[in-house]
Amino acid sequence: MDRPIVIIGGGVAGVSAAESLRDGKYAGRIMLLSNEAARPYDRPPLSKEVLRADELPANIWLRDEDFYRGRGIELMLGVQAVSIDAEGHSVALSDGRCLDYEKLLLATGSRARVFDALPPGAPHVHYLRTLEDARALRQEMTEFDGRRHLLVIGAGIIGLEVSAVARTFGLEVTVIEPGTRPLGRSASPILSAFLAKAHAGKGVDIRCGIGLSTVEPLGEGYRVTLSDGSTLDVALVLVGIGAVPNLELARDAGIETQPEGIVVDGLGHTSAPDVYAAGEVAFHFNQRFGGHRREETWQHAADHGVHVAQCMIGACEHAYTATMSYWTDQYDCSVQVFGNPHGTSEVIRGDCASGSFSIFHLDQSSICGVTTVNASREMRKSRPLVLRGAVIPGEVIADPAGDPWQYS
Ligand SMILES: Cc1cc2nc3c(=O)[nH]c(=O)nc-3n(C[C@H](O)[C@H](O)[C@H](O)COP(=O)(O)OP(=O)(O)OC[C@H]3O[C@@H](n4cnc5c(N)ncnc54)[C@H](O)[C@@H]3O)c2cc1C
Repeated sequence: MDRPIVIIGGGVAGVSAAESLRDGKYAGRIMLLSNEAARPYDRPPLSKEVLRADELPANIWLRDEDFYRGRGIELMLGVQAVSIDAEGHSVALSDGRCLDYEKLLLATGSRARVFDALPPGAPHVHYLRTLEDARALRQEMTEFDGRRHLLVIGAGIIGLEVSAVARTFGLEVTVIEPGTRPLGRSASPILSAFLAKAHAGKGVDIRCGIGLSTVEPLGEGYRVTLSDGSTLDVALVLVGIGAVPNLELARDAGIETQPEGIVVDGLGHTSAPDVYAAGEVAFHFNQRFGGHRREETWQHAADHGVHVAQCMIGACEHAYTATMSYWTDQYDCSVQVFGNPHGTSEVIRGDCASGSFSIFHLDQSSICGVTTVNASREMRKSRPLVLRGAVIPGEVIADPAGDPWQYS
């Protein structure tokens, strides 16, 4: 039998790549393997819909079963790739089998970064990366009797989304964040301030510039001492301090890695012949920025999976150029960010108090990014401005009667 293209990782990057290979008319065998037992599912709902209801939401599955059957994609679930023989073109699996490959795509994603004082598996300590994690967190958030104080470590997207859901269950929520503002890495100061206010309005206590000094078991929960000397007695903890790339498989095979991920060029090619990497695990070259970066967003994982798949079969020869893009849902705020939210200045269009507005991020005088809150139409219209780096006078953006999109 012909040797297949083997894809390791059934996240959105791996599934998008498999689909794109077939769409690109690749007629050979495709094997998609995942160390998770569940059919490939989507992660964004884990901190949103999956926490809110017992029943899994319809949008949880990346594709239905017929998709894999219909396209002849051989799905292997609950099996881990344990080593790669890059020279011999084979992968050893946890069930003792060995797969020869024609080409290999590493789409192994990331895992939650561990906070040593509160490791995964400690009682009432939660991390959120998998469907299993989300179900366990929901169970504790909904069934907890007596003391109902949730400590969230990290005011990133996952920490804030979980806080929003936890408040709907009536939990008392404290978020601690060592940085100076929530979402400091991924949002602009205006969005951070807006979301901080939204959370405060719902009773979430966000404490910035604060770390955790000590943790002691206390009854069914913990007594934690914070870096400002204050103490909290909490019943459960969510650790949301970021993600680390699953790069060990590549590194142990002698493939070039950096702490940020598996190093790939603009076509997704690693340092080993016929081995590629895509999605969150890839420290990828992006032509738009003229350098390597790693991104932890759904849109990038999906786009990069498609791009690298097309490069693997020779259907694409140009380097990856996508720009950063993500969304987050907190309470009734649907937030979208496109491009770089860390410009030299930012201009608001609309009224923050109305709960529907846009923020245009400028790098000197040109638009480098746009953030919208409950304004998806403005986001759609504004993306071309970001891609072009349009130069628009600030007063045109801020004027409700002005038309910034005429600069598209
Ligand atoms: C709770 C949560 C909420 C999120 N919300 C948003 C959001 O609102 N907006 C947004 O833009 N992004 C969001 N993201 C980020 C987005 O979901 C990720 O960027 C995206 O899932 C990355 O996809 P991936 O396929 O690269 O990696 P992953 O989704 O990490 O998939 C990799 C898969 O490979 C498997 N694997 C790893 N090693 C092996 C091995 N050796 N053998 C076999 N299988 C292996 C892993 O178990 C995993 O199933 C969220 C992420 C999480 C965790």
